[in-house]
Amino acid sequence: RAALEAWLDGRMPEPVARPGRSRLLVLAGPTAVGKGTVSAKIREDNPDILVSVSATTRPARPGEIDGVHYYFVDDAEFDRMLAEDELLEHAVVHNKYRYGTPRGPIEKALAEGRTVLLEIDLQGARQVRAADPRASLVFLLPPSWDELVSRLVGRGTEDEEERARRLRTARVELAAQSEFDFHIVNEDVATAAQQVVDLAHASGR
Ligand code: 5GP
Repeated sequence: RAALEAWLDGRMPEPVARPGRSRLLVLAGPTAVGKGTVSAKIREDNPDILVSVSATTRPARPGEIDGVHYYFVDDAEFDRMLAEDELLEHAVVHNKYRYGTPRGPIEKALAEGRTVLLEIDLQGARQVRAADPRASLVFLLPPSWDELVSRLVGRGTEDEEERARRLRTARVELAAQSEFDFHIVNEDVATAAQQVVDLAHASGR
């Protein structure tokens, strides 16, 4: 009956439940594939979804805001968060800086029945899977390797050496895509973001 009334009201049916999946979604994928842009788009359009803000020891880039893009912390503060068990997962990314997901806001949002999205690297995705086997792991793919390289060069935020480092990591990450539950090709940001949101809404029921 409820479904009929909803339909008569012109509402779309709810996505089908995915048994055995929690509301925790992990978005991973190689460098420069557009994870940051896709998750920013999701955050903008879906206030009901908590897009987690990570802590990092990396210095802020121009335009990045503390508490919005990351919590920019020093090594001592990162060590303290680890010692206090405040991070759900953490990793050294691109052999350089440390990144980690604060546990508190995620547990609170999940307890409230909200969907949570983490945009993290492969090592982090594996740790989340170990901590919560019901989490959904989504892998964002570039349309091609050449496209990935040209996006990395095009955004111009890394020097030659850093780009080479990131491309090495990207090869390792692309090789691990079969560990993921879902694969989305990022041809265009709005479409990819919507595909992630559709997965999110089909999870955790
Ligand atoms: P960037 O320095 O370009 O912002 O991010 C570098 C990499 O760190 C990206 O692959 C991003 O997904 C990853 N990353 C960001 N936050 C976290 C986190 O909290 N945990 C892990 N494991 N990786 C993260």
